[in-house]
Amino acid sequence: MAEEECSLKVLLEEKDREIAALKCKLAQLEKSHAPALELHGKVTPLTPLRAKPALSNEDIMRYSRQLLLPELGVKGQLNLSKTSVLVVGCGGLGCPLAQYLAAAGIGRLGLLDYDEVELSNLHRQVLHGEENQGHAKALSAASAVRRLNSTVECIPYHLQLSPENALQLIQQYDIVADCSDNVPTRYLVNDACVLSGKPLVSASALRMEGQLTVYNYRGGPCYRCLYPLPPPPETVTNCSDGGVLGVVPGIMGCLQALEVLKIASGQGSSCGQQLVMFDGLGAKFRSIRLRPKQADCAVCGENPSVTRLVDYETFCGSAATDKCRKLNLLSRDQRITVKDYKSILDNSDPHLLLDVRPLVEVDICHLPFSLNIPLSNLEERKSEQIQLLQEKISQLKQQTAGDCRPPVFVICKLGNDSQKAVQVLEKMSGSEVDSITVKDISGGLMAWAQTVDPTFPQY
Ligand SMILES: [Zn+2]
Repeated sequence: MAEEECSLKVLLEEKDREIAALKCKLAQLEKSHAPALELHGKVTPLTPLRAKPALSNEDIMRYSRQLLLPELGVKGQLNLSKTSVLVVGCGGLGCPLAQYLAAAGIGRLGLLDYDEVELSNLHRQVLHGEENQGHAKALSAASAVRRLNSTVECIPYHLQLSPENALQLIQQYDIVADCSDNVPTRYLVNDACVLSGKPLVSASALRMEGQLTVYNYRGGPCYRCLYPLPPPPETVTNCSDGGVLGVVPGIMGCLQALEVLKIASGQGSSCGQQLVMFDGLGAKFRSIRLRPKQADCAVCGENPSVTRLVDYETFCGSAATDKCRKLNLLSRDQRITVKDYKSILDNSDPHLLLDVRPLVEVDICHLPFSLNIPLSNLEERKSEQIQLLQEKISQLKQQTAGDCRPPVFVICKLGNDSQKAVQVLEKMSGSEVDSITVKDISGGLMAWAQTVDPTFPQY
């Protein structure tokens, strides 16, 4: 009898192990059948996000550390699970933002970006890896987010937000986070959020500084209430022009995630009427109170003139891209191509090459025969530098046997600042310095690297 009991026990244990192994296999199979991430090239209607009736044991374990917070609790966690967030831009702000929203258990994440991953993104766009170079950023971000939390529904959009698709897209989400880096997109996202009544959590980062505000939230102002008119395009600096330390957008993206989570969980954001400013150099945060919603605001005011989305690139006078902006300040005869300049070099035609980039960029790379005078020094008419320029022009005049307007070519990184410098130099020509013929080298050193000298570094 005892023997029979014993063998039955052994048999049962064996069956238990078999059942456990089968359960494990089933779970793995179910996971591998999770729908593949599909990159959306256009906006399609989404099924409504269903609220969870209760937290599963796995949810309780996964979110246990935040469930303990009285500010969140089970109710807040369930609220997160029924909230959808659209992240506009999967770059330096969007990566940490999406990461923390997914980790915290947001219900649905729309990840929008029309760019591909590049090596120069990786110092700040921390969801992407070296192996993702050349792949769509939205898909790369979505894969990383899914690895972190497969229970979050992720929708990668490989498309550019436009007046044609923005409303349809934004209407399908509860909260919008603007992680873009250009003025037209900021106005477009703002107007679409106002027209569809969605809160907009907006951040920006440049060099060592960042800013954060929540717009169109609980009666607070919208972006247009504060900035009714776009800044002149030539005064706007983005990260590819001005540089940024990767951790700075990291900090701002985390702050954005915090405000989104507070809104989504039901606790509410306190940033609806204030601007949070981060100074990375001084390691300081400062909050300033914003002016309230404006009755005469063009989009959220009492008699709005913007009642549907408009052409934001025309409105702002610049392209809705986070990459290099191309200014067109000069006429065609004031510019030459890098190939034309190469022939001037090959022919040893006497000329002066003026590089107007800041010294920090000249230290990265430069053409050895160029004279560096930063644009700002020209604009401010720094006397030492103007004197140096005059000396070089005098030398050039001797070489060109008294050419009354010897040629000066101006170069910078992308051909924007160099155009401004040409305008400044033309004003100086014949008065502050001897008369010169000034021309801009179109596309700058990056065009030089792409079409003339592939060994020249690109940055
Ligand atoms: Zn407004």
